[in-house]
Amino acid sequence: MNNDLDAATANRRRFLKLTGSAVATAGVVGLTGQAAWAQGAAPSPGMAATPARELPAAVKLPPMQEDKSEKAQMPVQLGKDGRLGLAIVGLGRLSLEEIMPALATSKRCRVTALVSGDPAKARQVAAMYDVPESHLYNYETFDQLRDNPDVHAVYIVLPNALHKEFTVRAAHAGKHVLCEKPMATSVADCQAMIAACKAADRRLMIAYRIQYEPLDRQVKDWVRNRAALGQIKLITMSNCQNQSKQNTRQWRHIKALAGGGALPDIGLYCLNTSRFLLGEEPVEVQASLYSTPGDPRFTEVEEAILWQMRFPGGTRVQCNASYGTFTSKHYRVVGDSGWANMDPAFAYRGLQLKRSRIASDTSEFIAPGIEQISPPEKNQFALEMDHFADCVANGKQPWTPGEEGLQDQRIMEAIYQSAHSGKPVELPTVNGLDAFRGTPPSPS
Ligand code: NAD
Repeated sequence: MNNDLDAATANRRRFLKLTGSAVATAGVVGLTGQAAWAQGAAPSPGMAATPARELPAAVKLPPMQEDKSEKAQMPVQLGKDGRLGLAIVGLGRLSLEEIMPALATSKRCRVTALVSGDPAKARQVAAMYDVPESHLYNYETFDQLRDNPDVHAVYIVLPNALHKEFTVRAAHAGKHVLCEKPMATSVADCQAMIAACKAADRRLMIAYRIQYEPLDRQVKDWVRNRAALGQIKLITMSNCQNQSKQNTRQWRHIKALAGGGALPDIGLYCLNTSRFLLGEEPVEVQASLYSTPGDPRFTEVEEAILWQMRFPGGTRVQCNASYGTFTSKHYRVVGDSGWANMDPAFAYRGLQLKRSRIASDTSEFIAPGIEQISPPEKNQFALEMDHFADCVANGKQPWTPGEEGLQDQRIMEAIYQSAHSGKPVELPTVNGLDAFRGTPPSPS
């Protein structure tokens, strides 16, 4: 826990560096000062401050159809600063090291409440992020969020098996839900989450940050536009890291909490990103898995998984993920007239994209050059949260809704089935592109 808070303090320093004088004028008194800064009070770098204004009451319209899923979702009235108020649920590594610092660059979100099982940690984080003590909750008092008008939505950052319970409780409390990946640990849980949010007319988005990240979106555009790389024949993806040997009983190694090992945690990036790039859904998977005998980290969950997917347009995708190797994260998309290479891929920052292709339509061989594509880096969590806020505020289905997480869960179950049977597993054909996705994010 101390490590988490040290990391959070370091991130806060990074935040102060980022926002610099704007925060200084907002009255920072020091890193450990109580309520040191008002998030949202200082505009994000490059943004003009917008004066607070009263928002008109939301218009209520009579339902046009009985079926709730068919009716347009109502927009939501946000706070006076126009920002979505988020309750962060779970103050672990991802919340403290990435999500909360990312709020410094978010244009549309702020943290207004915290949910944690550790009251001392919650108070300390609240002081750092200017969250009032009255807005601190634990897992038992979570449902009282219903009575907090400063909280429009929850961001669930808990172990995978708890995502369903807290999504359903949030929907019952009338809150919209942004949920970390993997969405849950079973198809049934994913379906229950979607049903609860639909019944409560709340938005549900899965936090697939890669689908909001500009370089990955660039590759998606190349893949979908035949002129860029030609017909895509092959994609290879790998996401590997070495899990700490110090705590072999951490939740990621316990099947009941994680749902599986390398596949749902890091392999999911390969699965979700390849589906995103192509827009199609795989029609067949074939897999094998492996765990080093006697390694106490992998008595319940797999160490490594390797699988292939066949997509209906003819692309073959080959993926692997391991919890037992040195960090190695990359992918390569190969078409018949070019390739794109992301290495490192899937990381929070420092992504590197290169491309090579035939310059013109010629039968002569011209040795192609390699381009490095380097737009200014954007914070992936801020982009993802801002898209969610836009969808909540304007009643739009998010680009990565619950249905997107459910489809990944279905495919992961097929991958495990293939690994255990040693045989390929067929998946139902899904017609059209981006069949499970909602409104595309606006250009960042
Ligand atoms: P973590 O272990 O650092 O934090 C989990 C938090 O949940 C802790 O604060 C812990 O106290 C709390 N918790 C509540 N009930 C618990 C229980 N029964 N057992 C264990 N912990 C419990 O984990 P994390 O790395 O922050 O991951 C949280 C979620 O975020 C996971 O779903 C993970 O897959 C996801 N994640 C996503 C990304 C991404 O890039 N999008 C990166 C890392 C993690």
